[in-house]
Amino acid sequence: MSSSCHPRLRSSLHLLAATAPLLLSLAWMPVAAQAHDDHDSHAGHAAHVHGVGKLDVALDGKTLSLHLDSPLMNLVGFEHAANSAADQQAVQKMAATLRDAGKLFVANPEAGCTLSSVKLESAAMGPALLGEKAVAPAARQEAGHDGHADLDGDFAFNCSQPERLRSMQIGLFEAFKGFQKIDVQFVTAKRQGAAQLLPGKALLNLQ
Ligand SMILES: [Zn+2]
Repeated sequence: MSSSCHPRLRSSLHLLAATAPLLLSLAWMPVAAQAHDDHDSHAGHAAHVHGVGKLDVALDGKTLSLHLDSPLMNLVGFEHAANSAADQQAVQKMAATLRDAGKLFVANPEAGCTLSSVKLESAAMGPALLGEKAVAPAARQEAGHDGHADLDGDFAFNCSQPERLRSMQIGLFEAFKGFQKIDVQFVTAKRQGAAQLLPGKALLNLQ
């Protein structure tokens, strides 16, 4: 975990550092508990928990839309603005992997889905770095007030046989080692539901 990510927590950890390791793990619990409450509300921005991503999947007519909301930590291993050349390279590599979304989100072939658009956005990263054609002046590149930052990705596919869509293999765990869990919500004409994907268990059943 990056030492620059949790400055306030880090300073409180320093106070605890002389005491037992048990206290160190307890220090993290309020963060996780608060995030859980946010998740259950289904309102506003998704909870920011390192290792956890949120994926919304919607099939509307022939258009299959996916929205990924993830801490940048899962994708590049840091959440500060990409100042160094190495940081910028890491962000560009991440963006290129996400833009090749046909390999990350693989529908069963009978559905005939092909990638039509990708949009990436992050408060901590400039649009150009993410491969976006910036139309507006670049947003201020900084992490949130608490030192955390997310990435939002929108991915659209056009499916020639949407009624034959049964499943999607989600390749985020293989592409980005920072993911430990992905919470999915999906809606199709036939059903809606939720699923929790894990490394090695990343086949999303849409039926
Ligand atoms: Zn964070």
